[in-house]
Amino acid sequence: MKVACITLGCRTNQHDTAEMQTLLEKEGFVMVNQREKADAYVINTCTVTQKSDTSSRQAVKKSLELNPDALVVFTGCYAQLNPEEAAALPGLDLVLGNADKLEIAKLLKAKLRLWKKSEITEIVMSDIHKKRIFRTIPVKSFQGITKAFIKVQTGCNEKCSFCTVVRARGKSVSDNRGNILNNIQEAINADFKEITLTGINLGTWGMDTGETFSSLVQDIIQLPGDFRVRLSSINPMEIDNDLIRLIAETEKICSHLHIPLQSGDNKILKQMRRNYNREQYIEVIHRAVNAIPNVGLGADVIVGFPGETDAAFENTRKLIEELPFSYLHVFSYSPRRGTEANDYKDDIPGNIKKERNKILTQLIKEKGLEFRNKSLNTIATVLIENQRDKNNGKLKGHTDNYIPISLDGPDPLKNCLIPITLQNISGNFVEGCVLS
Ligand code: SF4
Repeated sequence: MKVACITLGCRTNQHDTAEMQTLLEKEGFVMVNQREKADAYVINTCTVTQKSDTSSRQAVKKSLELNPDALVVFTGCYAQLNPEEAAALPGLDLVLGNADKLEIAKLLKAKLRLWKKSEITEIVMSDIHKKRIFRTIPVKSFQGITKAFIKVQTGCNEKCSFCTVVRARGKSVSDNRGNILNNIQEAINADFKEITLTGINLGTWGMDTGETFSSLVQDIIQLPGDFRVRLSSINPMEIDNDLIRLIAETEKICSHLHIPLQSGDNKILKQMRRNYNREQYIEVIHRAVNAIPNVGLGADVIVGFPGETDAAFENTRKLIEELPFSYLHVFSYSPRRGTEANDYKDDIPGNIKKERNKILTQLIKEKGLEFRNKSLNTIATVLIENQRDKNNGKLKGHTDNYIPISLDGPDPLKNCLIPITLQNISGNFVEGCVLS
């Protein structure tokens, strides 16, 4: 039986898909590409924006165009938050909760045994808010991606007013230290050279067990093998001095921090119910920049949040101008059902949101170029990805401080951590040359 998985959204969702694939392969299912005809399609959805909702629904249609008789599973955050609505989507057979994803192989096996497409859509969804044990399984492949995404924590205890994720993933719960170290060692043994630690609120790992995230990172870098660790998005108030010191002192951890900002205006941060203010955010960035040479800094920013006056937006624009960001993810605010902010008056017109998004996108383009220019004629370690650049056939990858690299070289360099010299700017990339 052939199964194809379609993943939308964050790295945590990508890890979830990798876990489901591992279990399906163990049960004898053959994993095929999402553009191929399959007996079953597993759509791991996202609901962070209206656009991700639309893409999730479209994935159902696309799957049924490939095989109208296929069994279609709808899981992930869209399914978790709107099970009834999902079940009403034409052609769907199973709606599966986020906390039930590891049941996928058993459920598919039972369903496919006497498979005949029917009008009835089954919903399998346990209460994600109930206290639960969270254990991940070792994963050996990530849909052709060169890096391994290892989920160490899920859920969140914050109440950001714009966020749907917290309702779709439940309370913050950590995986067990021993299990994480074992899963990472398995990924290293499976020849993954870069381990990206991920979670819904990554830095809160250990808060439910009286441990610290930095102590976990300390243990991970002791593991034997040729690999490096990259942190995915981490909130400012969870970055302690131990973590900054570890990143500064250890080549095994990438000098890269992605620290969501969302807004640079205190009044807006309050309405967003973020757990920090502008001054606290700046203090964290200064601590990191002063300790970690050439650190790559990224952030998420929302423009057009309800009540964002010109002055409030200017506070955000100015903060971004002042801090040494090298890239940004800029989102235009869209109200999300079931969030507190959905009841706020969405009073920023679409053209203003667009204009503000354009201003920040242009600003970060200049700052990103400045950051890449500063890196020229230096040496950095890059992980060469398995896929060549579709446009120019060159090898590509990222430095530890997250500069996108393009270089000429033979296939044996793929999936290797190699030292290169950064030579010249080429669009969003830096042309590199393998150190001889
Ligand atoms: S920290 Fe805020 S934005 Fe992030 S998952 Fe938690 S509630 Fe959502």
